Amino acid sequence: MASPPGKNSPPASPAAPPTPESQRWFMDHPEVVVVATPKVACDGGGGALGHPKVWYDMSEQDFVECKYCDRVFALKNGSHDPGVPGK
Ligand SMILES: [Zn+2]
Repeated sequence: MASPPGKNSPPASPAAPPTPESQRWFMDHPEVVVVATPKVACDGGGGALGHPKVWYDMSEQDFVECKYCDRVFALKNGSHDPGVPGK
């Protein structure tokens, strides 16, 4: 209760190699949430960064960006899924 919710930021590596083009999108959107369905709800995770719960539908796309908290929801195995290499 007393401690604030932790941010899930990965530790920055001191000597990172140049970022390939495909990685830059993820640098701009550090919080990518992989989801299984094109319809997602976001409330900002609660706490100080929280916001009213909103629903997003990706329609023809395979990702959607939350306009409140800049979080990105990427459809699993879609072009924005960070778990899919070489896209
Ligand atoms: Zn949000």
